[in-house]
Amino acid sequence: MTQARAYLDHAASAPMLPEAREAWLAASESVGNPSSLHTSGRLARRLVEESRESVAADLGVRPSEVIFTAGGTEADNLAVKGLAWEQPQRPRILCSTIEHHAVLDPVAWLGETGREIDWLPVDELGRVDPDVVRARLGDDVALCTVMWANNEVGTVQPVAAIAAACGEAGVAFHTDAVQALGQLPVNGALPGLTSLALSGHKIGAPVGVGALIARRDARITPVLHGGGQERDVRSGTLDAPSIAAFAVAVRHAVAAQADHAARMVSLRGELVDGIQRVAPGAILNGDPVDRLPGNVHVSFPGCEGDTLLMLLDAAGVECSTGSACTAGVPEPSHVLEAMGIDPALARGSLRFSLGCTSTEADVDRLLEVLPSAVDRASRAAAPRLRRTR
Ligand code: PLP
Repeated sequence: MTQARAYLDHAASAPMLPEAREAWLAASESVGNPSSLHTSGRLARRLVEESRESVAADLGVRPSEVIFTAGGTEADNLAVKGLAWEQPQRPRILCSTIEHHAVLDPVAWLGETGREIDWLPVDELGRVDPDVVRARLGDDVALCTVMWANNEVGTVQPVAAIAAACGEAGVAFHTDAVQALGQLPVNGALPGLTSLALSGHKIGAPVGVGALIARRDARITPVLHGGGQERDVRSGTLDAPSIAAFAVAVRHAVAAQADHAARMVSLRGELVDGIQRVAPGAILNGDPVDRLPGNVHVSFPGCEGDTLLMLLDAAGVECSTGSACTAGVPEPSHVLEAMGIDPALARGSLRFSLGCTSTEADVDRLLEVLPSAVDRASRAAAPRLRRTR
């Protein structure tokens, strides 16, 4: 009998929730375009508006503050570019150095178009200091963006303090809550918050749907122009089945958050203790306490993360590295670099992310195969490390 694979990559994409799949299938039976005036169109429109009301209620905002998008990347791009473009007279943008590329890259691109980017540093645990943000705010700042929790090392940011500081200074504040939703209590009406990005496939909805929660008075220049849907901020025919499934997944993520987090913290404890027992040199990265409940990020000294990942995959365990491989040369992640982690150590890092389908059997499977994978990965890396010295 073949052993089940251990999927420890929920932060990359979570399995679809059965209830979300049902909502998607039910909505797919009808053909209406929510912008059409006939009966089918009106039914589709009603589904979208009920979903909007549901998402708004779960996040503590008004329905008119929910802008449906095709995922987290689009929501982040819309917020970053749309908020900055509205204020050309304010040249500066504050952005943390540990953002996901969905924020980092549009911010860097705005820099290429003439905006001045003030990169906010993090400490060795990956945390932005709200006092540093406060000191850098001013009348010349169009936007400050700091994620709710980091997707690689899991560190939770002091978003309430940063949002409050931005609110007092009259500066728009955007946060990427893609990884936070379902794992942490996410309040869309946080004082000082202008906008917040969400993604469906991290919480059990299909890939390709998400939302930007944006305060009603937030001025956002559209990125996509066309039919004028979504407050005229995000044109494009609305994907009613995916939006219905997204609303179901958001409802579940918010309702189950506390119980889910408690179960993940307990499972994470077993995973961390187990890794330290079977691979004693391993180093846990990120904040040991204030981190996403399902996140374990570890450096294995003397190993290449990509090699380790492939060995674990062959042994039935799926996880991820934070490194991007450019022309065959693994680049250390910008997050670990910003935290001051040694590049060699950074290259030997893996992220294990637990989620709703994770069990003790998954943890046991990893702990069973990890020692031999680490041993083989360090032997494979040794000649290469000698060559580069
Ligand atoms: N922001 C964060 C923190 C993420 O982890 C991801 C996905 O990995 C995204 C944004 C992008 O979301 P999507 O895959 O829905 O475009």
